[in-house]
Amino acid sequence: MENKVYDVAVIGGGIAGYTAALTLKNFKKEFLWVGVKPFGEKLLKAERVKNFPTFTGNGVELAALLERQMALEEVPFTRAKIDGVYATGGGFMLTSGKTAFSARSVILATGVETETVESASKYLGRGVSYCAVCDGSLYKNKTVVCELSSPNYAEEAEYLAGIAKKVYAFCKYKNAEFRAENIQTVEDPIALIVGEGRVTGVVTKSGKMLEADGVFFLKDAAPPAVLVGGLETEAGHVKVARDMSTNLAGLFAAGDVTGRPYQYIKAAGEGLVAAFSVHKFLVHD
Ligand SMILES: Cc1cc2nc3c(=O)[nH]c(=O)nc-3n(C[C@H](O)[C@H](O)[C@H](O)COP(=O)(O)OP(=O)(O)OC[C@H]3O[C@@H](n4cnc5c(N)ncnc54)[C@H](O)[C@@H]3O)c2cc1C
Repeated sequence: MENKVYDVAVIGGGIAGYTAALTLKNFKKEFLWVGVKPFGEKLLKAERVKNFPTFTGNGVELAALLERQMALEEVPFTRAKIDGVYATGGGFMLTSGKTAFSARSVILATGVETETVESASKYLGRGVSYCAVCDGSLYKNKTVVCELSSPNYAEEAEYLAGIAKKVYAFCKYKNAEFRAENIQTVEDPIALIVGEGRVTGVVTKSGKMLEADGVFFLKDAAPPAVLVGGLETEAGHVKVARDMSTNLAGLFAAGDVTGRPYQYIKAAGEGLVAAFSVHKFLVHD
């Protein structure tokens, strides 16, 4: 655990998180800007950005400009996936595996990721998890399913294989490789999670039933209410007021995570508003 207590922790490496961090830098706040990587996949995917004032180009070009500005303005970035945010009474603790960070306030800018399996939310905390390191120990000698969004999560699947008896791995990428004999890759995607109260297995798209005690979704973004206990959400988005505050004092949200429209300029604008609101919050705290 770091001993340092930041004024603000900004979670999410997209444009909402970046704009919040840039604004906090101007406010001379002690902040931690943390994410899986700066200017993640979504930004890079845009073939042509048509609605960002002064800019004409694609996502890769926009990301390059942002990176240039980030270097020029000396905005620091910490690479880590945050797997839990906890109110500590007077502040927040963020965990990333065995590492923990402390901050007086938080801006959540984790974007949105659509659920790949519809029934997942029904079994949250009852067999469905988004963090192997947090919940893996519950599955000693049991059978688990994991769905991996990228090869970056192979290690988490292998971690599960060290605890569980058997791991079925559903990979959203080609040529998956694992260094554990009890991991079996399954090509047929998950269609449904089944169970009575708790998970008992999954049914694949082709109708095959696989018995399992738990299902892990190993990907960059977890639903916000999973990441932050007690956070109020509506249809999967964080409920925010105009100043981007949430129902948790000191915790603000910005960008796609707060709802539609999913657009760069809206995400950047909300990142800025959240930073101003945090600044005000810290003065009165
Ligand atoms: C193909 C495509 C084309 C698009 N084209 C346009 C366009 O032309 N114009 C436009 O305005 N918008 C466009 N968009 C939408 C735009 O990409 C989003 O609105 C914008 O990226 C939202 O920014 P954000 O910062 O809120 O979230 P994101 O860009 O999604 O960034 C969130 C980041 O947080 C990280 N993260 C999530 N959870 C955690 C965690 N627990 N710990 C650490 N990091 C975490 C993620 O890895 C991600 O990098 C497009 C989107 C796509 C997919």
